[in-house]
Amino acid sequence: MERVYLDNAATTKIRPEVLDVMVRAYSEFGNPSSVHREGQHAKKAIEEARESIALSLNCDPAEIYFTSGGTESDNWAVKCAAKGHVITSKIEHPAVLRSVEMLEKHGLKVTYLPVDKNGLISPDSLEKALTPDTSLVSVMMANNEIGTIEPIRELSSIAHDHGTLFHTDAVQAVGTVPVDIQKLGVDLLSFSAHKFYGPKGIGGLYVKKGTEISSLLNGGSQEFNKRAGTQNVPGILGMAEALRLSVSEQEKTVARISELRDLLKKELVDKIPAVLFHGDESSSLPGIVNFYIPGMDGEKTLLLLDVKGFACSGGAACSSKDSAVSHVLSAIGATKEEAKNSLRISIGAYNEKEEIHSFVDVLSSVLRP
Ligand code: PLP
Repeated sequence: MERVYLDNAATTKIRPEVLDVMVRAYSEFGNPSSVHREGQHAKKAIEEARESIALSLNCDPAEIYFTSGGTESDNWAVKCAAKGHVITSKIEHPAVLRSVEMLEKHGLKVTYLPVDKNGLISPDSLEKALTPDTSLVSVMMANNEIGTIEPIRELSSIAHDHGTLFHTDAVQAVGTVPVDIQKLGVDLLSFSAHKFYGPKGIGGLYVKKGTEISSLLNGGSQEFNKRAGTQNVPGILGMAEALRLSVSEQEKTVARISELRDLLKKELVDKIPAVLFHGDESSSLPGIVNFYIPGMDGEKTLLLLDVKGFACSGGAACSSKDSAVSHVLSAIGATKEEAKNSLRISIGAYNEKEEIHSFVDVLSSVLRP
């Protein structure tokens, strides 16, 4: 039986066009920092990739820094731009939460903004939390467990009114929904290629011109002297191609995925009326459906679904190995039982209607006593 992959928020399948670009790039080996022809050829290729990414995100190429992925970008933004007091939210990815916790150990003050039952942060709560000491606000653009999209434009403008830098972890948003950096008005923005049908281990941080941020990695003078280490040329080229293709097809893909999401929700309600959905319908990524069914053992259900050919998740991929309750579901007011046993289905560009039908059929059979 063909496997059905419904865990696209954890990672996506690499696009064949992206793989082609990368295979070609792997057959050339120049170091972009070398002055000879091989090196300069590699340098030209990564600068073209930088331009293409900047065009997709609406910023200047000199504001894009390549990193090893979303985790590094978040660590860099948070650890190297924060001083005194930092504000973040209770539903951030561990890459942000563990970074601010480390800062707390070094004496920085941290405020964790609450969210409402749909996962939304109120601009009012940010306004109230800002102090003259606040150096950085870090709020994710879209949540990886429930899909809620935060009002980043409004939040960043409040932070700026207080002279505070604003970082957004846009790892789940970039490539999936429109991300226009000028419109968002942020100073720092993290993204990662494997969430938009590109390779793993490559990502980037947008740093607005003039933003004061020290380096996370020290060494050579790569990345405008800000991020040391020989660049991952095939990864960078693959990421640029993946983003270009995702953005050019975004409208069509969002419409298709939204249709599959609506179908999934309808079928779930029809077959299992007690189903309870988490998240915000009006401001959400198109493909994430997080739900709980009373009495369902999340971990056992995931294992049974896997055996029957369905790959889905109990929440964030990073925490799916332990049975800890989800900090995101807890923050939106879910009970411990719900926060431990909910499932996350994340639909991607390669999913088909038939897969949704068979998923709901198999889930209801698995849950039948
Ligand atoms: N931030 C969010 C919201 C994510 O969903 C992820 C990945 O799951 C990351 C950061 C980490 O990105 P990466 O896997 O590229 O390190």
